[in-house]
Amino acid sequence: MKLALLDGLRLAAVRDGMAVDVTAALPWAHDADPLTAGWWRRLCRDFAEARPALEEAAGTGRAVPLDSARLLAPVLNPSKIVACASNYADHVAEMHEVQRRTLGRVESWMMEFDVFLKAPSSISGPGDDIVLPPEVVAAGQEIHHESELVVVIGSGGRDIPEDTALGHVFGYTLGLDITVRSAADRSRRKSYDTFSPIGPWVVTADEAGDPGDLDIVLQVNGEDRQRVNTATLVTKVPAIVSYASRMMTLLPGDVIFTGAPPGVGAIHRGDRLTTWISRIGPMTLDVR
Ligand code: MN
Repeated sequence: MKLALLDGLRLAAVRDGMAVDVTAALPWAHDADPLTAGWWRRLCRDFAEARPALEEAAGTGRAVPLDSARLLAPVLNPSKIVACASNYADHVAEMHEVQRRTLGRVESWMMEFDVFLKAPSSISGPGDDIVLPPEVVAAGQEIHHESELVVVIGSGGRDIPEDTALGHVFGYTLGLDITVRSAADRSRRKSYDTFSPIGPWVVTADEAGDPGDLDIVLQVNGEDRQRVNTATLVTKVPAIVSYASRMMTLLPGDVIFTGAPPGVGAIHRGDRLTTWISRIGPMTLDVR
């Protein structure tokens, strides 16, 4: 299924350009308060239990065109955003030049695959603009796009073995890891409000298929900037989930950004970003 969140945190199934409100079919109580996201975490953890009723409601409910619906980020108050660094070889290669330009030196520790954390409050949705922080713009620092496959955790756990890791995934969506290029810590440079746009919906793992064969494209003002297939991830989704779970317990609804493809570059006020992942969909965002 493709699952979206609408105004009032209503749950919608998406099909053929239409959204069907399936909230009433949830087998447990829904809650419109974003701070108490228990119903959503439960959906991530227990999707198999909820799916039959949601599928039925999706086929019988009143459909509204997506164009007339305001979509929210299809993740709700995750306990953490885990993000991968240095996970495409061609991106690691380009970062030598980017770091020389923006830092005046190359930080070799940043060239190794690892995971770091972004603030969950940086999440924004498909209907929101990316807001460039005025003080960062005034300081002349570059703010970059990183268009990434995003994993939403289902059943969670710790010390998850790689060979069963995909069974812990609720679904996949698309995210931009917006990043200030400076010498500051990653968590600071990537945690400004609206620096984690996510959407337009979650494609559940059963429908998404192999996360190791998805095309990712990002265009800025209609021009290609990033184009990659996730087959070239250095550390692939099962290994990412396993690796992260050895450091921190993954909870239902947690979000993992899988890493920046090559082609990162600066965004500016007035830019329009369109990003697309096969079997997930397009998302277009404006920068202000
Ligand atoms: Mn990134």
